[in-house]
Amino acid sequence: MKGPMSVAEPPPARAISAILPSRETIEGAGVHLRRAFGGNEVPRLDPFLLLDDFRSENPLEYVAGFPWHPHRGIETVTYMLDGFVEHEDSIGNRGVISRGDVQWMTSGSGIIHQEMPKPRDGFMGGFQLWVNLPATDKMMDPRYQEVKRASIPEVEAAQGVRVRVVSGEVAGVRGPVQGIVVEPEYLDVRIEPKAVFDHPLREGHTAFAYVLSGHGRFDEETREPVDAENLVIFQDGPRVRIEAGSEALRFLLISGKPLREPVAWWGPIVVNNRRELEVAIEEFQSGTFIKHGRRGGPPATAPA
Ligand code: MN
Repeated sequence: MKGPMSVAEPPPARAISAILPSRETIEGAGVHLRRAFGGNEVPRLDPFLLLDDFRSENPLEYVAGFPWHPHRGIETVTYMLDGFVEHEDSIGNRGVISRGDVQWMTSGSGIIHQEMPKPRDGFMGGFQLWVNLPATDKMMDPRYQEVKRASIPEVEAAQGVRVRVVSGEVAGVRGPVQGIVVEPEYLDVRIEPKAVFDHPLREGHTAFAYVLSGHGRFDEETREPVDAENLVIFQDGPRVRIEAGSEALRFLLISGKPLREPVAWWGPIVVNNRRELEVAIEEFQSGTFIKHGRRGGPPATAPA
């Protein structure tokens, strides 16, 4: 029994479940990028399917871009740090995702789009996260949340800790991306050397951090710091505690509600079973893939 003088201790911070290095891979029409996680990690990161890091100083690595391709059953989230991505799609949307902007694209039943990265002053870089949709929402109408840099609040969460809040809440400030099915939190966190970010997370939600630069400790145990271009997967718990090492640390901290549904995945199409996958591919090849609002995009029958 605790006496009246005992002080309530904070609940323990989430422990680390795994630290995985990102891997070089080639996607689209020949874009060199680093994959933090993808098909091999399903279902460990449920509801998240993939995270690509396409920061680059060499235009030859990415100018081929991601020409016309379909998506069904997922959301793709593009967050740019440098340069920009020109995009165009089958709904008639066309625009540019610039430095600091976020595009949260819900493909739902189907969208066909292209995404072409361009440098600015020789630099290009950003991230694309794929978020799964539950069976009940896989065939929803497609929609976009386009968020410009100025609309993403930057919060001083603690001394030496600055957080851009894309989605979720930090220090009472909510991010602009809302109403997403898996209730995601998407934070871009910068911590000065030795400063600490202590942040509550919903219990039961899957959470991971991807280290952009610097190094730091991502749990309360004494262990080697985690370096840039590594993925930290957390165990469950009510909060995380992250401390920068001797240099500034920057990372993405992302969490969301797991779906616990079967995953049938072919390239940019993610549904629940093989039959749905066959239907999607057949529709794409026969030109009946788009269910909603065709006002642009490629010819009706695109090569698979
Ligand atoms: Mn795409």
